[in-house]
Amino acid sequence: MWCQLFSEPEAGSDLAALRTTATRVDDGYLIEGQKVWTSFAQHSAYGLLLARTGPAEDRHRGLSLFLLPMDAPGVTVRPLREITGGTHFNEVFLDAVALPTSSLLGVEGGGWAAAMFTLGNERNLSTQRSRPRWKRLHELAGGSGALDAVARDRLVRLAIAEELQRVGSLPGSAAKLVRSQIEVMASQLAVDLLGAAATAHDDSATEVAAAVHWFLGARANRIAGGTDEIQRNIIAERILGLPR
Ligand SMILES: Cc1cc2nc3c(=O)[nH]c(=O)nc-3n(C[C@H](O)[C@H](O)[C@H](O)COP(=O)(O)OP(=O)(O)OC[C@H]3O[C@@H](n4cnc5c(N)ncnc54)[C@H](O)[C@@H]3O)c2cc1C
Repeated sequence: MWCQLFSEPEAGSDLAALRTTATRVDDGYLIEGQKVWTSFAQHSAYGLLLARTGPAEDRHRGLSLFLLPMDAPGVTVRPLREITGGTHFNEVFLDAVALPTSSLLGVEGGGWAAAMFTLGNERNLSTQRSRPRWKRLHELAGGSGALDAVARDRLVRLAIAEELQRVGSLPGSAAKLVRSQIEVMASQLAVDLLGAAATAHDDSATEVAAAVHWFLGARANRIAGGTDEIQRNIIAERILGLPR
């Protein structure tokens, strides 16, 4: 398994502000810095590391991408507890990690384009993520007997949005934004359909626990891979051509 070492405590949406450095030494690079929100770092054999090889003023032009063995000396992974109770993501500390020159992916200063490419893939992938849970919502609605008019209306609106996303070929940012909105609305409806049961559940693998986990996790989808607000900026500036 691989993980993606991009975000830092002071560099999430503004990724070009990242501070982790890769300094050239005789036989390679010395890495110093900290990453955060790194999904599955604790299970990964390698990480795709975005680090600064040029001066901070160079912003994204001074960034390079490295292949980092997660068991290299100087790499410390600390899991973070999430609202769902899970430990999906981590802090990763990089203290004088020595990497050979061959660990540079592509050319020095070429990290930004590669990182944006992988983020684009992540956004497209995130549109596929929750299809099985969508099925669960249908089952839940069917199992709850006669739905009231408001719940029926919400379900139909969601079904239309889902179908529009399926048949339309939206560009990455728009697809990711629509998907994250659908997930929030669908998981909210699932919890509403469950009613009071959703407020008292344990962590066992019940349908109620799964729905609540979905509801809480859907909030994270609005942030992971670039927040909803950043997707809106991209759509406005790069797709619609609106001024900044
Ligand atoms: C579940 C999950 C998994 C993740 N996995 C990874 C991973 O594997 N690897 C990795 O590197 N990162 C990962 N991340 C981190 C994720 O990419 C960042 O959290 C995200 O880019 C936002 O950065 P931030 O948290 O620093 O928030 P900030 O950038 O500080 O944003 C805070 C708020 O300000 C808003 N904002 C910021 N700038 C603007 C702007 N210009 N215009 C309008 N609004 C703005 C944001 O939308 C947000 O609401 C993950 C995050 C989550 C939630």
